[in-house]
Amino acid sequence: MLPIQEIVEKENLTKEDIVTLLTVKTKEEQDVLLQKANAVKEQFVGKKVYLRGLIELSNICGKNCFYCGIRAENNNTKRYNIPDEEVVEVIRFAKSNQFSSVVIQSGELCNFAFTKRITRLLEKIQNISEEQFRVTLSLGEQSEETYREWYNAGAQRYLLRIESSDRELYRTLHPNNKLHDYEARLKCLQVLKRIGYQAGTGVMIGLPFQTFENLADDLLFMKNLDIDMVGMGPYIEHEDTPLYQYRESLLPIKDRFDLSLRMIAILRILMKDINIASTTALQSIDPEGREKGLLAGANVLMPNLTPLKYRDNYMLYENKPGVFQDEEESVVYIKKVVNSAGEEIAQDYGDSLHFKKKRQF
Ligand code: SF4
Repeated sequence: MLPIQEIVEKENLTKEDIVTLLTVKTKEEQDVLLQKANAVKEQFVGKKVYLRGLIELSNICGKNCFYCGIRAENNNTKRYNIPDEEVVEVIRFAKSNQFSSVVIQSGELCNFAFTKRITRLLEKIQNISEEQFRVTLSLGEQSEETYREWYNAGAQRYLLRIESSDRELYRTLHPNNKLHDYEARLKCLQVLKRIGYQAGTGVMIGLPFQTFENLADDLLFMKNLDIDMVGMGPYIEHEDTPLYQYRESLLPIKDRFDLSLRMIAILRILMKDINIASTTALQSIDPEGREKGLLAGANVLMPNLTPLKYRDNYMLYENKPGVFQDEEESVVYIKKVVNSAGEEIAQDYGDSLHFKKKRQF
């Protein structure tokens, strides 16, 4: 038996086990890991894929994360803000295409007008959908009061990626100021959980200066935080960012892709009943990236429903796929992805089973 086969069958994985799984050398070993993760997924969450329609509300951001293409200081990005009426149209489209969930993502803004705008939008969504929709927000760090206001207006899920759980690496990836403070981000995640959101986080995989130990710690961080959902994918550089200068030190892109699949697979083994997204970043490296993510243990896809005219200005990283696919084409494409992975689209809301079980207790 391969040592990998013994490790994946263990009840609890240690950090050392995780590093061994992350650093497998052969395709045969990687396949053992991915197949085990897929079997765990089938047993605990089934062969169902949950769709979340993604709306990239605005690329206006007040922050300057060193890896991000829409950072405030990138003057090469044309800024946009989708008017509420157009967002409402997207919601109607999602509803008529049997979506039961949307994700609203935006650059990070913390001000009264933005808070109230989101509250109004959530109330409109609840009206249109007759409260038949689950809404995930991904709008960055906010005050507890704001998170509560949005929760009370109908948001049930919140995604706040930690990007790296290692404090030192986090500091390397962000400007050294109050606006980009690791502890503040961590506190936000704890507040979100306390309020009652299904809380999600995620990391980038294959960053400059990142070690396999850092990635193992990221997975253990998610487990210790008892997170309900995760969206993580390969780091892909963007030339208008400070981190681009380190591109020569990166793992080859194919290795970052495989490493991302292994991260998904290990997370599925560690946290059997959470929701894990197969992210668009996987597809930007491999045309079948999202299918491969599903087969490695992911169970969520997020077809992009952002109106086409805004799409190419939400470039967090380069070569983002789907920029020329309109909403209808996105839906057709995503159904193809699910079919080719031999799975089916779930018809329910797709709440995290992990979250639901916690609630029962
Ligand atoms: S990662 Fe988020 S908060 Fe940071 S610059 Fe990009 S959009 Fe803004």
